[in-house]
Amino acid sequence: MFTKILIANRGEIACRVARTARRMGIKTVAVFSDADAGAQHVLACDEAVRIGPAPAAESYLIGARILEAAKLTGAQAIHPGYGFLSENAAFARACAAEGVVFMGPPPEAIVSMGSKSESKRLMEAAKVPLVPGYHGDDQDDVTLLNEAKRIGFPVLVKASAGGGGKGMRVVRAEGEFDAALAAARREAKNAFGDDTMLIEKYLDNPRHVEIQVFADTQGNVVHLFERDCSVQRRHQKVIEEAPAPGLDPKLRAEMGAAGVAAAKAIGYVGAGTVEFLYQDNAFYFIEMNTRLQVEHPVTEMITGQDLVEWQLLVAAGDPLPLTQADLSPQGHAFEARVYAEDPARDFAPSTGKLVHLGQPMEGPHVRVDTGVAQGDSVSIFYDPMIAKLIVWDRDRAAALRRLRAALADYKVAGVSTNLEFLGAVAANADFAEGGVSTRFIETHEETLFPDRQPADGEVLTLAALYLVLTERAEAASRAVNSGDPFSPWSLANGWRLNDDNHHAIDLKDGGETVRVVVHYRRDGFEVDLPDGDRVGVRGELEADGGLSAEISGLARRATVVRLGEDLVVLTKGKQHVLGVVSAVGEVEADAGGGLTAPMPGKVVQVMVAAGDTVTKGQALLVLEAMKMETTIAAPADGVVKDVCFGAGDQVDDGAALIVMEDA
Ligand code: ADP
Repeated sequence: MFTKILIANRGEIACRVARTARRMGIKTVAVFSDADAGAQHVLACDEAVRIGPAPAAESYLIGARILEAAKLTGAQAIHPGYGFLSENAAFARACAAEGVVFMGPPPEAIVSMGSKSESKRLMEAAKVPLVPGYHGDDQDDVTLLNEAKRIGFPVLVKASAGGGGKGMRVVRAEGEFDAALAAARREAKNAFGDDTMLIEKYLDNPRHVEIQVFADTQGNVVHLFERDCSVQRRHQKVIEEAPAPGLDPKLRAEMGAAGVAAAKAIGYVGAGTVEFLYQDNAFYFIEMNTRLQVEHPVTEMITGQDLVEWQLLVAAGDPLPLTQADLSPQGHAFEARVYAEDPARDFAPSTGKLVHLGQPMEGPHVRVDTGVAQGDSVSIFYDPMIAKLIVWDRDRAAALRRLRAALADYKVAGVSTNLEFLGAVAANADFAEGGVSTRFIETHEETLFPDRQPADGEVLTLAALYLVLTERAEAASRAVNSGDPFSPWSLANGWRLNDDNHHAIDLKDGGETVRVVVHYRRDGFEVDLPDGDRVGVRGELEADGGLSAEISGLARRATVVRLGEDLVVLTKGKQHVLGVVSAVGEVEADAGGGLTAPMPGKVVQVMVAAGDTVTKGQALLVLEAMKMETTIAAPADGVVKDVCFGAGDQVDDGAALIVMEDA
């Protein structure tokens, strides 16, 4: 076995490979771009080598740099992860030439499976069923159109070199064919530098079911059952599961055998995935991926195997650790891909700092594969995946409950995420029935992309509670720092004691400004909500944005994160962003007849002058502190004797602002 390997990747997969290597006592070398100097995968490895600027084309995709890094550190083998150089035959050959083991199949297998056309020819010869179609060399427009007509519309025009759903167009009628062909060719040329096209019958409602295969250098090939990856957006997987729900056992066995036959046909070595479409009780080969797939953890969960360990064993020349007869699936697993993206805006990537990242607790049933930590940024340079959330339980229904619970526990602030969308898929009744297909998202568009809902009373109450508790905590720490911990201001109970001390808070929710009024009570607060309800609440701030509350006697937990002028309330798997417009405090007179500043701040506006007669409750002065405006109001009818500050002045905590005398 190797003593040191290099991981030619980043993010969650690099961290995941490092974890297994560490467990096996193998040293790891990370490579990193300028953007990734402090990235988690660098921290997860024993050594790290800088390989170039942030864009992947100038760093992670430069094979020569990576090989240099391997030489420099004495790494004996390279794990390419997925994406980047994982299916690059030239890189695999360069590794071999340098005497470094590439953890993947022989370069010839990468080449033949890298072309969907070539792979279909091979699979045809190996008697693996194919989607009816055309995958010939003649790329003439007329030939392709005639083939499309022969197959019958709708057809799919697909780039032979394609991946990630690129260079693919559905053509529903002959008239659309030319334009679609041209567009798919352009996209393929741009993305893969190869515009060879194939044509397939477009299946109207298929499932994507794939077989995990594994082969060693001794000629042993096994399959580790199937994964259903039907839930996709723009032909990209969103939620995967194993086993495939409701799959006929006979068909399952046939698919496994077809996967093994496919691997054998090309002299495969290592981890591979043979992808099929499945419809009306028949399955059809679409392509083979010659690497470890993103969704491999669901297979690990149902087989109890570590596929990266298998890869290391095979790469070191060892036989497969188990035979087909040793393998049997246990229970059910789901994987949800948590992305920094905005589902409402066609899943556009969202970049920014992960100001808060709260993950579900890991254990035998829940696994989180991630490459980021709180405080890290999701950049424009790489895939915006935050994590893969994987759950396992004895059957699908139990695993689905785990998935829902774990998704609701995920809390992210700072970027938009697809968490609510994933939650909606997991909550969908058809999904629960196993009614998945590649058109699932499209079919359930109305329920999966609900309109933005206004914040409910609970969210508003939590936001208000957070603001008053934060203010109280800050006042307390100010008092400690001021050297007078017994200052009345350290109480921060509605600014000053009185019969009904209250604090009105204006929040922006979508386009609307809503007001909640918090009344300070001996044992907590009462909150007046915009709909007229009044609820009793108390609670405590916890570490890292945590808020434990009791609202009308019901215990609630939430995370509330302040992001500049916004408050992000994370509760029950939902994210609410509320703007803090102002928190209007009312200050009562102190014993000396002076109105003092409840906290350090800046005078924004003075509404009165010395000698003015004022009535109780009249606004006298506006103070801005902690980005909130506080209105200082007259505690009683009276006359202003002195105004101590003007607009723009900074004032200290406790400074006398206005001196009043009785009328
Ligand atoms: P890529 O390599 O770009 O991911 P695939 O060939 O693996 O392309 O197909 C990706 C997805 O596109 C499939 O999972 C399926 O949802 C859809 N798809 C591919 N071929 C067909 C087809 N013939 N009919 C219907 N859907 C298809």
